[in-house]
Amino acid sequence: MNNLMNLSFEELENYFLSIGEKKFKASQVFEWLYIHKEYNIDNFSNLKKELRETLKKDFNTDFIKIKRREIGEGVRKYLFELSDSNYVEAVLMEHDYGLSVCVSSEVGCNMGCKFCESGRLKRVRELETYEMVEQIILIEEDIESKIQSVVVMGIGEPFDNYDNVIRFVKIINHAKGLGIGARHITISTCGIVPKIDEFSNLPLQVNLAVSLHAPNDEIRNQIMPINKVYNISKVINSLKNYIAKTNRRVTIEYVMLKGVNDSIDNAYELAGLLKGMNVYVNLIPYNETNNIEFKKSIRIKEFKDALIDKGINVTVRREFGSNISAACGQLRSKEV
Ligand code: SAH
Repeated sequence: MNNLMNLSFEELENYFLSIGEKKFKASQVFEWLYIHKEYNIDNFSNLKKELRETLKKDFNTDFIKIKRREIGEGVRKYLFELSDSNYVEAVLMEHDYGLSVCVSSEVGCNMGCKFCESGRLKRVRELETYEMVEQIILIEEDIESKIQSVVVMGIGEPFDNYDNVIRFVKIINHAKGLGIGARHITISTCGIVPKIDEFSNLPLQVNLAVSLHAPNDEIRNQIMPINKVYNISKVINSLKNYIAKTNRRVTIEYVMLKGVNDSIDNAYELAGLLKGMNVYVNLIPYNETNNIEFKKSIRIKEFKDALIDKGINVTVRREFGSNISAACGQLRSKEV
């Protein structure tokens, strides 16, 4: 049976129309779920009993469960158990600008980036929309406060589960949903070009981040197998189109791997690639995992200065969460 939290506002309106009801019922249901936090359909008191029964025949409001939470400084990691006993993780972060959550979009991941722990388990399945929405609801309930921003940067490739991720974004962004501003939502992709193109037509001001991680195909092929399908020039071209269409600034993520992609020449080559584009580079200090092949770069500062010198905007991602394995690339779809 379908979960009621799988439906975007428009889909719920269409559902009501399809059963001969007025579409404003969608507003009432959204308010119950996302504003009053009422998940028992019997208690949707402004809907007639008959309609509640129909709703109950068509939908459930089942929840995923918090299986474990680990608390670090300024960060909490949640392990969620899904109804089919799969697991995913999400991370809550305290920033000076508010609370943000990093959500997972798939169980496992097929992208196979060599340096990333999350991809060591191949994709088992995509997450349904409600399984992403509930990561936020359960964390808000756990900490008894509201989340200000969301990044889809946990386990999985969001553009490999595009439709559910976009539905999720619409629900958390909707004024009668969780009310998280579109500008406070960021989706990160490893560069699935057709989906970047599709995303550029979405009438929502959601941010896009792209895991580039290399200034040329030779390096990117070694660390990101997806590059053999969508190479750097294809990714850069689709980003140029995206920027032209949306007028939005794109984040270029670049994980700093010692001796792999962190030379000053690499920085200059990256600067050449991005020259004139409305982007900023977010350098990610590598979080070492059990994977001994890669080490954290010790040249982040020089690399950053070289980019600045070439007129590229750059920030370094704040490091936290690694002591509870909650940092970028450390999340897992496993209980232990
Ligand atoms: N699949 C999407 C979403 C994951 S976002 C994507 O690739 O963008 C997680 C980010 O952390 C990605 O940029 C990823 O490349 C990066 N990452 C993966 N492993 C890491 C590690 N061990 N240390 C730091 N960053 C890592």
